[in-house]
Amino acid sequence: MIAFALHGGAGAKQGRDYSVEIANMRDIAEFARASLETGARAFDVVTEAVRQLEDSGLYVAGKGASPNMAGNYELDASLMNGADQTCGAVTALQGFANPVLVARAVMEHTPHVMLAGEGAALFAHEQGFDPIADEAEYFTRAGRFESNHPPGTLAHGTVGAVCLDRHGQLAAATSTAGVFGKLAGRVGDTPLIGAGTWADGQTAISCTGQGEYFIRVNASAQLAFRHRGGQGLAEAADATLQQIVDMGGEGGLIALNAQGQVITPFRSQGMKRAWFSGDGDIHSEAF
Ligand code: ASP
Repeated sequence: MIAFALHGGAGAKQGRDYSVEIANMRDIAEFARASLETGARAFDVVTEAVRQLEDSGLYVAGKGASPNMAGNYELDASLMNGADQTCGAVTALQGFANPVLVARAVMEHTPHVMLAGEGAALFAHEQGFDPIADEAEYFTRAGRFESNHPPGTLAHGTVGAVCLDRHGQLAAATSTAGVFGKLAGRVGDTPLIGAGTWADGQTAISCTGQGEYFIRVNASAQLAFRHRGGQGLAEAADATLQQIVDMGGEGGLIALNAQGQVITPFRSQGMKRAWFSGDGDIHSEAF
């Protein structure tokens, strides 16, 4: 059994055309399927899927990042390997194209789970990641402060992926530039294991939405623990998202379990996403 889902953020706005993003997400889902069918590991597939989403420039993550209120690009990412619950994260990373790859290096080459700010950038340098030569040229949203949005507004695209491989292992990864209008140094749910990202032996989850709310309910770990405790996957997700809505927040998530069940619920205007389970078709939706 194999299964895979990815998202391009819960900030999708009714009335906007997301056909380019949908085509991109379908291409990445095709790549994931081909990789999984030939025995690729879930952890490698989510890493590569999120790297491709970051590099596309279509989402508010990686190349498509928007700057914070100080005009700087502070990027967050995390990933988790369900097989042994090893995980890595970076937050407020500046100057590098692929925070998900730096987060993976934190996991694989340090005794730590997360590095922040200058320390994360120093580590990325030491690991041989190439710094972005010219940010104004690199970022597709360079110079656009999206100042028409109130601080904390959902941006058009955190990205994430969850996967079940042929070996029965699960993994999750998430990457973002955060919400529009964020203050310098703001940390959302995306880099926080248990809030925006989680994978264990039974469930893999990647969240998107107003991160402050996802942190307050420890969203992804809560969903996983509910499911481990016997609640159905969809029921566990609904209960978790309901808490966020009750607090005044919005967002969504993608999740799958070791049986290959995939869900993509959201409580916002829309959420770009694509998924498949087993040898079923690739599905894609924005609303
Ligand atoms: N969850 C992300 C954050 O709060 C934003 C998003 O998903 O659009 O940083």
